[in-house]
Amino acid sequence: MVKDSLISFEVFPPKTDSAFESIEWSVRELSAWNPDFMSVTYGAGGGTSQYTTKIASLIKNKLDTTALAHLTCASTPKEKIKEILDTLKVNNIDNILAMRGDIPVGFTRPEGEYFTYACELVKCIKDYGYFDVGGACYPECHPECDSLEKDIEHLKIKVDSGVDFLITQLFYDNEVFYSFVEKARKKGIFAPIFAGIMPITNVNQIDRIIGLSGTRLPKEVNEFIEKYKDDPEAFMRAGLDFAIKQINELQENGVNGIHIYTMNKPYVARTVLKGINR
Ligand code: FAD
Repeated sequence: MVKDSLISFEVFPPKTDSAFESIEWSVRELSAWNPDFMSVTYGAGGGTSQYTTKIASLIKNKLDTTALAHLTCASTPKEKIKEILDTLKVNNIDNILAMRGDIPVGFTRPEGEYFTYACELVKCIKDYGYFDVGGACYPECHPECDSLEKDIEHLKIKVDSGVDFLITQLFYDNEVFYSFVEKARKKGIFAPIFAGIMPITNVNQIDRIIGLSGTRLPKEVNEFIEKYKDDPEAFMRAGLDFAIKQINELQENGVNGIHIYTMNKPYVARTVLKGINR
């Protein structure tokens, strides 16, 4: 599924059957914009993995769009991973974003029953066969790692374990992304790197975004946050305009792909797609 200058969307699955319909509606709307692929996240505890498969199957088999199912191994035992791979294969889903995930606080992982790092999951999936495998990467360093240099060394191990493409954590400063790509290429990482873009559309998102990724917000973003914090409509417009500008610059600089964290909001994806030089 790897080619240059892709546009992809990330969606999250429902947590319950009752929420399925509204998410199905969003997914259908998003797919109508013809992204190159749509990815479906995997719930942190692994308990809702059936919904990841269900939404990915809808995307692939009913909406005729390439689907990428996320899979994490922090709280999913090796034995269950094999079952999930079988289920994805039966559902005709042949792309997986393989991650470690966050280890739930207080969760004990008996030795040997769980993979320690994503690279082990990547190898397991590649040994299984059938799937193209993506990995996550962090232009501003993974929060648990001491330095970006060390994190990129670990990334190299992950890519050498069989990663076909990488998707970055969200970021707002393109210079950070260019510098990360340069460092990764110097370390011998040549897999395509898709830039993860999350438009900031409301004030309440900001703490979560920074808490999640530790990303640095450029002056321009801080300025529009301050200027429009009490005007939700103008705030959303400014956030979407910034995302459009960020994507256009990345594309002018030859980015391999843009992965939009849509937050299941078709309006966000539609506005961004209309604004960019696709
Ligand atoms: P790893 O690659 O295993 O890295 C984790 C840490 O271990 C890093 O600090 C790394 O430097 C270190 N490390 C890695 N390999 C080695 C090694 N061989 N030796 C020593 N140290 C090593 N989470 C979800 O729960 N569900 C999702 O759907 C989801 N989707 C995501 C999508 C994207 C694009 C991104 C960027 C993140 C996503 N996450 C998701 C979050 C992700 O699971 C967390 O960031 C998690 O903490 C790390 O996962 P990873 O696969 O990057 O881990």
